[in-house]
Parts: sequence; C-alpha cells; structure tokens
Amino acid sequence: MRFSRLKLAGFKSFVDPTDLVIAEGLTGVVGPNGCGKSNLLEALRWVMGENRPTAMRGGGMEDVIFAGASSRPARNFAEVTLTIDNSDRLAPAGFNDQDQLEIVRRITRDVGSAYKANGKDVRARDIQMLFADAATGSTSPALVRQGQISELINAKPKARRRILEDAAGIAGLYQRRHEAELKLKNTEANLLRVDDVIEQLA
Ligand code: ATP
Repeated sequence: MRFSRLKLAGFKSFVDPTDLVIAEGLTGVVGPNGCGKSNLLEALRWVMGENRPTAMRGGGMEDVIFAGASSRPARNFAEVTLTIDNSDRLAPAGFNDQDQLEIVRRITRDVGSAYKANGKDVRARDIQMLFADAATGSTSPALVRQGQISELINAKPKARRRILEDAAGIAGLYQRRHEAELKLKNTEANLLRVDDVIEQLA
C-alpha cells in the first residue's frame, strides 16, 4: 500500500483543484513561508479521518474550507482525495478488492463531512480503522508536525507507549475492544431488563 496521489479542491489555501502525484521514493515539498506546505500535510491527515479542528490549526472543522481572499469568494465545500496504490494487495479486508484505492472526504458548510472509498459511501470510522489497521492514519507518528519532536521528548511514558502501539499497527484493536466493551455493557443491561420482565410475568 503506497500513497500515489493527493487531490485537493477548496481545501484551505488550495482553492483551485490541485493534483499532486506522489512518486516512489522520497518526496520533498519546498516553497516560501505561508505557501501551503503544512496545509498539504493537514490535507493528508484530514482525508484519513482527523476530527480534531485543533490538529488542523482551526477553531471548527469548517475552517478547512477556503475562506475567501480579496479577489475570490469563499467556497462552500472542501474535498481531498487520496489515491493509494494497492497492487501489492495489502489493504485491510473490505478495501482489498482493487489494485487502487481511492478515499474521498468532502465537507460542506452546515452539512458536515462525508467519505467515499472507491465510489462507495463509507463511515468516518471505517476510514479511521482502515488506516489504523495499515499502521498509519491521522495520528500516525510518521506525520511530524512542527514542534512535535520537543513534545515527544517531554511526553509521559504512557503517551510514548501509544506512539509505539500506533507504529505497530494495533491502534485499531483498542478501538474495537472499546466498542466490544460498550456492546457487552448494553447486553448486560438488556439481560437485567429481561429478568425484570420475567419476574413480573411469573
Ligand atoms: P511555513 O513555511 O511558514 O510553515 P507553510 O508553507 O507551511 O508555511 P501553511 O501554514 O501550510 O504554509 O499555509 C498557510 C497559508 O494558508 C496562509 O496563507 C493562510 O492564510 C492560508 N490558509 C489557511 N487556511 C485557509 C483557509 N481556510 N482559506 C484560505 N486560506 C487559508
């Protein structure tokens, strides 16, 4: 699984449709201050399911939509498409049926975000799980923000362990365990309710 293309439209400073081919090997992005280098990394994080506006340097998630400039009106939606080369067929189950995997996230003002995987509507959770199982995603330690290295040096052991777990690709298991525990609690509550009803009928 390899990221092969990133397309942006209306995302932050990338108001016009922009199509970036990510070639094999090392890719460098260079440009003057404020030209949008960090916005590209944020687009990558966002399409992988990032839901914290602060991680996007914004106050609310709609702040990722092009806010307008003196010569251009604001946009009503932002869209990021990430194309993944899956010719090695290593994508997690459920997403592994084609040589190429295309993930689209679109946010529309007052409506919110919607995701698609190879043209099919999917949930944010499905996308987050897909990347967590592939040992990457919006919180991947491979995406290093400015200031993150000093945060890491000062982090508590528990936070550092989380980074190792993310790198080992077991972050998705924690989410599944949490969901299984919630289901178990609901089932226990339902069983108690059934006991009550049986007692009333007896
Ligand atoms: P530096 O080298 O200083 O870190 P950079 O190349 O990483 O800069 P970014 O921080 O990615 O640049 O981009 C900042 C630019 O993006 C600013 O000009 C800012 O006005 C613009 N920008 C951010 N959000 C939006 C938005 N919602 N609408 C329009 N422009 C935006």
